[in-house]
Amino acid sequence: KFNKDLGQHILKNPLVAQGIVDKAELKQSDVVLEVGPGTGNLTVKILTAAKKVIACEADPRLAAELLKRVQETEYARKLEILHGDVMKQTLPYFDVCISNTPYQISSPLTFKLLLHRPTFRCAVLMFQREFALRLVARPGDSLYCRLSVNCQLYCKVTHIMKVGKNNFRPPPKVESSVVKMVPYNPPPPVNFEEWDGLLRIAFLRKNKQIRSNFMTSSVLEMLENNYKTFCAQNELLLDDSIPFKQKIDDILTLSTFADKRAAKMDIDDFLKLLVLFNQNSIHFC
Ligand code: SAM
Repeated sequence: KFNKDLGQHILKNPLVAQGIVDKAELKQSDVVLEVGPGTGNLTVKILTAAKKVIACEADPRLAAELLKRVQETEYARKLEILHGDVMKQTLPYFDVCISNTPYQISSPLTFKLLLHRPTFRCAVLMFQREFALRLVARPGDSLYCRLSVNCQLYCKVTHIMKVGKNNFRPPPKVESSVVKMVPYNPPPPVNFEEWDGLLRIAFLRKNKQIRSNFMTSSVLEMLENNYKTFCAQNELLLDDSIPFKQKIDDILTLSTFADKRAAKMDIDDFLKLLVLFNQNSIHFC
């Protein structure tokens, strides 16, 4: 009955469903975005606690089932269904997002939400356990990675509950966890593409010194191209008094991060590094 490609694992434990909704601390004035409502086990609980639910569902069969479930109730007028792939939608305004997410879109969905403006108040999201642990990992933790840093740039993220596979029908292969995200407001004034570009290099090999990740020929070539384009676009004189490689090395030395490892660096460290590169006309996208 359920479509594996759409990650359809229905949450059958009402206590877990209620726990998720409770953690969102909804107000009666809230507009809630629910991604992948499925048959509506979370939706009906959200409807009782919020002003409006906008539920985005890719499977027309399940969207119809949800509509039928709510139609005859007093909550029907509070529910709006967005049909189709959430990744292709322009998201509407929402205060809170709640989702038992389809796991195959975990990462793009996370950043679609975190980059959405205006920022939401909080999101309570179910993910695969490992993905959730990556989101919340801190510098020095074994799961600390580019995903952790990117997410924590935009929000305070906490692990709020473990959910075993037997709470779903059909049970998924892996365990799950619920996380809560509370975005920083105002959001950090960072160009995400630039930031992510820097992190991609820093985390090429997260336990190696940052300098060695930067000194690979493909990275240097890419940065040099970006540098030339930036100078041309901004009518700046190309500084070719020192080899480009040396220029990068000098910036890294000046930053004091040259011999640090991404695995142990925090958001502030990466921000400082990005500012210093940008001040020297080095860009990552
Ligand atoms: N919320 C329900 C529950 O907790 O029982 C179902 C959760 S199930 C893990 C994921 C749901 O997301 C399914 O209903 C699936 O059809 C839907 N879905 C999958 N990919 C989607 C996408 N790209 N956009 C919107 N919905 C999607």
